[in-house]
Amino acid sequence: MNYIHDTIAHLKQTSPAQCEFYQAVEEVLESLEPILENSADYQKNAIIQRLVEPERQIMFRVPWVDDDGNIHVNKGYRIEFNSSLGPYKGGLRFHPSVNASIIKFLGFEQIFKNALTGLPIGGGKGGANFDPKGRSDSEIMRFCQSFINELYRHIGPTTDVPAGDIGVGAREIGYMFGQYKRLTGRYDGAFTGKSLLWGGSLARKEATGYGAVYFANYMLQDNDDSLKGKRCLVSGAGNVAIYAMEKLYQLEAKPITCSDSSGTLYHESGIDVALVKKLKEGARESLAVYLETHSDAKYIACADYPSDGHAVWRFVADAAFPCATQNELTEADARTLISNGCILVCEGANMPSTKEAVDVLLAAKIAYGPGKAANAGGVATSQLEMAQNASMQMWTFEEVDTKLQQIMKNIFDTASNTAAEFDQPGNLVLGANIAAFRRVADAMIEQGVV
Ligand code: NDP
Repeated sequence: MNYIHDTIAHLKQTSPAQCEFYQAVEEVLESLEPILENSADYQKNAIIQRLVEPERQIMFRVPWVDDDGNIHVNKGYRIEFNSSLGPYKGGLRFHPSVNASIIKFLGFEQIFKNALTGLPIGGGKGGANFDPKGRSDSEIMRFCQSFINELYRHIGPTTDVPAGDIGVGAREIGYMFGQYKRLTGRYDGAFTGKSLLWGGSLARKEATGYGAVYFANYMLQDNDDSLKGKRCLVSGAGNVAIYAMEKLYQLEAKPITCSDSSGTLYHESGIDVALVKKLKEGARESLAVYLETHSDAKYIACADYPSDGHAVWRFVADAAFPCATQNELTEADARTLISNGCILVCEGANMPSTKEAVDVLLAAKIAYGPGKAANAGGVATSQLEMAQNASMQMWTFEEVDTKLQQIMKNIFDTASNTAAEFDQPGNLVLGANIAAFRRVADAMIEQGVV
């Protein structure tokens, strides 16, 4: 275990104040213990030292002018972490909490997630500490254009292919692609998550949420169970949460909660997903507005959350789907879920459970699907979008959805079989990390010291 301590100590010295990044690295390194101990090759090739250092980190100024003529300056990031398996691939996040640590943890996770899909994509991530809330459409457009005025020179269909994430949906991708096209004169697949009118893939919008629910069902089917009839807690009310809830209904489960940055919604008879879509995909309103049409629902504002966790995880349910943001499920939340009889936690978001929460979930031996495996359906379908763009084709929704289901099944089988190979059956954290690491590390060795 010395190498974990040494690696984290080294990172703290060379990349100070990046606690989310250390958290992500530590989780992966702990899982790798059984494979690193017995492989002189990985040690001789300094794989860990190379893996935790991004190939390239781009940080830049994003100046823009608001509707009243005031000038604002934000920080833009693109971390091109690892290209051993293919072009850098990963989303862009626009949220005030974005900083180098957040983007680096997301980029690090992305290397392993992309490797698990079995597709030829490397790991990257980017974004800006820009808050799109309350901004007009023209302000969003001007921000996206300024962001791309720097980023365009670093991206392209065979080098680095950004997509959406928190705060970045089809509208933002449209503005960024437009500016990229203007600056480069190229019409190519440099972005995924594009509109269906001009190069997007059917089922990409649904893919992360649908994929996480397929993954959960595969976990349950492994124990001769299924999602049918299960009461489910979902957090978030964005892209991932909405389509996770939609797929839960299709598989005859019932989502009874969702949440946003101002509070948690609880509806015992089942969340009205069409209404949440309307509130969030349209005018981007607070979930509190939901009560205007559903007076039997409850809304708990953030200020009333328990001091050691989140309201959304305190309801009695069979399964939990964190689909909002990092570290939104604490140790206390994990204990509450288990004592309330929850048998499955499946992560639609990236690193939504704290390290202590993961330890509790694993010790309880409930079905736990870590984000890098369970939410990989989004990036996998992005790669399907790249394949369609490169071959100038457009596949049907059913074709893409069938491929998505197969990819999620392969990821589940790979993580599950690898966990069993290392005598930890059911530990999908260990299985996913080792399986992904082997693919990336072996490719790095074959490509030499670069
Ligand atoms: P969206 O921006 O569409 O939605 C995010 C949701 O989470 C919103 O409801 C937002 O609230 C809420 N939220 C965001 N930050 C916080 C916070 N700090 N506290 C409480 N609530 C918060 O993002 P996505 O649905 O795309 O992403 C959700 C998660 O899934 C992220 O972790 C992302 O990295 C991950 N992910 C996304 C993929 C994708 O394809 N989109 C792929 C793989 C992972 P509000 O409505 O108030 O803004």
